[in-house]
Parts: sequence; structure tokens; C-alpha cells
Amino acid sequence: MCGIVGAVSNRNIVPILVQGLQRLEYRGYDSCGVAVYADGLKRARSTSRVSELQQQVSAEHIEGGTGIAHTRWATHGAPAVHNAHPHFSHGTGADSAARPGRVALVHNGIIENHDELRAALQAKGYVFSSQTDTEVIVHLMDSLYDGDLFEALQGAVAQLHGAYAIAAFCKDEPHRVVGARAGSPLILGVGGGLDQDHAETFLASDAMALAGVTDQIVYLEEGDQVDLQLGKYWIFSRDGQRVERPVKTVHAHSGAAELGPYRHYMQKEIFEQPRAIGDTLEGVAGIVPELFGDGAWRTFKDTDSVLILACGTSYYSGCTAKYWL
Ligand code: GLU
Repeated sequence: MCGIVGAVSNRNIVPILVQGLQRLEYRGYDSCGVAVYADGLKRARSTSRVSELQQQVSAEHIEGGTGIAHTRWATHGAPAVHNAHPHFSHGTGADSAARPGRVALVHNGIIENHDELRAALQAKGYVFSSQTDTEVIVHLMDSLYDGDLFEALQGAVAQLHGAYAIAAFCKDEPHRVVGARAGSPLILGVGGGLDQDHAETFLASDAMALAGVTDQIVYLEEGDQVDLQLGKYWIFSRDGQRVERPVKTVHAHSGAAELGPYRHYMQKEIFEQPRAIGDTLEGVAGIVPELFGDGAWRTFKDTDSVLILACGTSYYSGCTAKYWL
């Protein structure tokens, strides 16, 4: 599962974006990248570790207050720099790839109707520079863009079939990042409180990516679309209604995402299992029917037997459920 971090701020946000990617490394990835607004779109991409990307951004002096970053787990197109996110749109025409980018976008998930969308965009003159399903989204947003990036996002997601968490920004609206989620996680972070000079807004795949940056987190719901600006944000549900989601104080502990003394994340996960199970069961008062859902006792009263079908990890979960039942 890949990782996304995005930010709109007054300060150089690149160190926070890269640090966010480092905290999402535990999810696994094959390439990574970051893009910011700095009098136009600037990006760095790598098929190496996030630490290499960090060196690349400092060597190339990539700095900016608005940006997005990504760790990729390739599903469409080989793990290669030209397939790594962020992807840029460049308008239409055979020479378009040589033009500066207009919309920058990162995506987590799979777009199932990418073939038909690509064909329609190619017919309009869009030139593709990667083999990813993701690149159709950025060109689709470009084709719908008429001065309002959020409207372009809404128009684009209405045409997507599949799973996605998306973050995007545009060189024509440099203090704005938009995002959407369906089938992939995305959270919103609010930093800097009411002080407008320091107010900033973030997107990320999980709260851990923002540990030490902000503990004010909004968990976006399935189908939500977000419009982030400096210290302000708006959330809309899939049907376009403005919605409020609670801001939660989340004390994400950055150490949990760091490798520590382990050789790799699989080893870390193996050794953390006893503590993870302990933490999970901490809030459980006992093995009561409610563990299986609200009002489960009513269903259980009339149930003679339960058949659990599972394999792999869910088989082990099923064994635990059998024991609990
Ligand atoms: N399907 C996209 C790609 O292959 C995104 C993969 C991901 O979630 O990292 O580039």
C-alpha cells in the first residue's frame, strides 16, 4: 500500500513531506517522489529509498509551501522513474511534454477504466509519458480545468471506476491542494491553530505521517472530497454536499513508524506482535457479544451454529472468532 502526503503552508514544506514519506515507508514501496509549487511545478522522483529522494531535493534546491509527495507500489507500469508519482499534466499537442507542468497529482489505488479514459484523452491530444493508470486522472483534471481545481477534481472523480486516494495541486492556484478518497485511506491534518501566519493544512494516508507536525486530524469518510487552502478546508461528500467531519486529537507516536533496531519492517512487525495484540485488546472489557457488532446477542440467541470461511491471515482470525464464540 503506497503513501500520500500533501500540504499547503507559508513555510517550506519539503522537509515535512519527505519526513512524512519516511513515516509511511513501513507500508512498502518501489519508488517515491515529491512535487512543489515554486514559480511553477518542480518535482524529484526516485526508484531508490526516501533518504535518496531527500538528498535529491536538497541538491536540486526544491523548496515550496504547497506540495504533494508519494511512495508508490506499482500496479500499472514498471517501477521506473517515469512511472513514479507525482504525475504532471502539460496540456495537449505533440510538443506538450516539453511544456512546464500545470496540474500535479499523486494517487493510491487502481483505476479500472483507465484504458477507455486514456483513449478519450489521447483523442483530445493528451500525450502520456507513463504506463500508469494514474496518469489518466491528471490529464482528465487538466481537460476539465477552468480556473477552479476543486471543480476539476469533482468532474474527474465522477468518471473514475476503481479505488483511489488522490492529492493534487495546480500552478494556477498555488495555495490550494485538493483530494478525494474512495476505497483507499486519506486523512486531513490541521496545523498552526488560528494564527493565520502559521496556519497550514495537510493530507496524508495516515496520522503517523504527520506525527510531530499536527495532532489535529480529520478522518475522511468513503467518497469524501476535500479542498485545502492556507489554514482553511472544506469537505464534501460524494454527492457534492458540504459536510462537517469531527477534528480528533490523535497522539500518533512517530517511533511506531520508524525502523528502530530492526533490519526491515517485516522483522519489526514480527517482534511487535505481542505488544500490538495487547494494545488491540486493551479497550476490550471482556469477550462479550457486542464485540461482534451492535445487538449481536439478539442474533446469537437464535443461532445454532456459525460457519466461518477464511484462508491465510483471515483463517487465523477465524480461529480466534471460533474460540470467542
Ligand atoms: N496504480 C498506481 C500506479 O501503478 C498507483 C499505485 C499505488 O497505489 O502506489 O502507479
